[in-house]
Amino acid sequence: MKHCPICNRSSEEARFYGEFCEFCAGKKLKAGLHAEVKVEQCRDCMRIKVAGVFVPESKGALEALLSREYRPYRIRLIHSGNGIARMLVTDEERGGLSVEQNVHLKVDRMLCDDDMKKRAGYYEAIVQFRGDEGKVGRAVASLERYLEKNGTFVTKTEQKEHGVDVYASSKKSALAFISARHMKYKGSFELHGEKRGKRLYRNTYFITL
Ligand SMILES: [Zn+2]
Ligand SMILES: [Zn+2]
Repeated sequence: MKHCPICNRSSEEARFYGEFCEFCAGKKLKAGLHAEVKVEQCRDCMRIKVAGVFVPESKGALEALLSREYRPYRIRLIHSGNGIARMLVTDEERGGLSVEQNVHLKVDRMLCDDDMKKRAGYYEAIVQFRGDEGKVGRAVASLERYLEKNGTFVTKTEQKEHGVDVYASSKKSALAFISARHMKYKGSFELHGEKRGKRLYRNTYFITL
């Protein structure tokens, strides 16, 4: 008969993993697991990075990520949500000792390579705000927030002598913003290419604030 060196339970009262009882062995296993895992997620397509590659977010993808984090243990994801993943951790080298553990998912938002390219220089519209510096600054910030919220983005902003030019990835979103705020604009359209026989324009909206 064995006795656990930590709690003094005997092998008649509990299962043993090595020299420790199942309770103490489980506690030791849990104590050795880090409580937080970093998840790199693309802010545009929401894919997560597993083993250096961005893959669609799924239970399987998250389980693969956790398995890499908690090597050499076997990981089964029980569920996840609100930044917490609950997993079953099994130590195969210790006779299959298993514990359930919550882990905090620390999401690190970034851009995947595809979206980085997409963002590099792509734009459909330029919104030119001119006038009072304060008003222009607020309009630029407000347009940026609006575009981000609608799944579009600002490619770049350019400081001009009497205002700021905002390069927007979507002319639809840019125009929706302008209409929602009842801003008067002068529009101009520049042909910049053709796609399947359809002419593509880049729109410029000139707005005096
Ligand atoms: Zn014990
Ligand atoms: Zn992406």
